[in-house]
Amino acid sequence: MTTQGALRGNIAGAAAAIAFTACDVVAAAQARVRSQARATARGKGGAKAGPRRLAAVASGGRRAVVVGGRRAKTIDVHAHCVIPEAYALLGRKVDDHRGPGIGEVGERRIREMDAQGIDMEALSINPAWYRTERDVVTRVIKIQNERLAEFCARYPDRFVAFASVALQFPDLAVQQLVDGVKKLGLRGAAVGASVADDEFSDPKFHPFWAKAEELGVLIFIHPQSTPDLARRFKGNGWLANTIGNPLDTTIALSHLIFEGTLDRFPGLKICSAHGGGYLPSYAPRSDNSLRVAPDMDTGVKLKKQPTEYLRQMYYDTLVFTSEALRHLAAEVGSNRLVIGTDHPIPWQDKSIDHVLKAPGFSDKERRAILGETAARLLGIKL
Ligand SMILES: [Zn+2]
Repeated sequence: MTTQGALRGNIAGAAAAIAFTACDVVAAAQARVRSQARATARGKGGAKAGPRRLAAVASGGRRAVVVGGRRAKTIDVHAHCVIPEAYALLGRKVDDHRGPGIGEVGERRIREMDAQGIDMEALSINPAWYRTERDVVTRVIKIQNERLAEFCARYPDRFVAFASVALQFPDLAVQQLVDGVKKLGLRGAAVGASVADDEFSDPKFHPFWAKAEELGVLIFIHPQSTPDLARRFKGNGWLANTIGNPLDTTIALSHLIFEGTLDRFPGLKICSAHGGGYLPSYAPRSDNSLRVAPDMDTGVKLKKQPTEYLRQMYYDTLVFTSEALRHLAAEVGSNRLVIGTDHPIPWQDKSIDHVLKAPGFSDKERRAILGETAARLLGIKL
């Protein structure tokens, strides 16, 4: 590391201090963080400045995150809920769904968000309706989107939401997206990673991508396992989710890239859960496949190298380790990352610390990842 790099790291380290603050001590905590940053910049912090300083002050349980001496609003794009009434129409029970409290958007959820330091969640509902007939799914989506809008209206400073859409009927999905955004104030749509047996790159979905691009809203891709591999996922390890989910996303994004969908809709804003699945972990292989096997080229003319498309999409940070986050940022750009917790499914309750403690990011980058990028994508005022 260069001297300049080391200095930058130290400054970032000190300035990324976290504060759990009560309103009356916020200013003092922020001043302390600034003074620590200045001391480190002058070389007084030295090696001892290493681990981030954690100042814990009670505030009715709500953790306020401070980066670089300023309060950083944190926005979680990956938060699940279920609407019991709609779920019943699908023949499902809320209790069957993993995630304690998933059927509730209220005090319990807010308490848990407060403890984690999450200021806002962008709520989404996993699409369990892609094989449901038209009249039933129309009712399901109507109920869900109206309830989501109600939650957001009740807690406008804590929640926004993605519309549910019945993508198996693309014309219906377009209308649901438009109504959700324009009439209900929803901030985009949450989708799976394929629709029944059809890939997102299928031309029948073009009208939906076109409308999302026109509206300028975010589409949140959340995988639904890779059902075709159910037989191979049997056994220990919950493989249908553990590897089935990231694989599902990997397949979806690869089709969107290789079939030219992202060329056709260059303004489309897509955010994938779980750090984009496995694709960013092994992206360069995609730049070499058709060189190795030119006979597998179906004639789609891409405007860019496959890996370059990764930098026109967004990804949540649910990748667990500092090293995984570093690599994800290296492949897609830190300006493409947003917080994702999977709340209330307990995959990760340290999403904020994950971003604050990972080495190598500047304060500016941390603030962007923690909330500023998501705010821009979701139309949230900071
Ligand atoms: Zn999830």
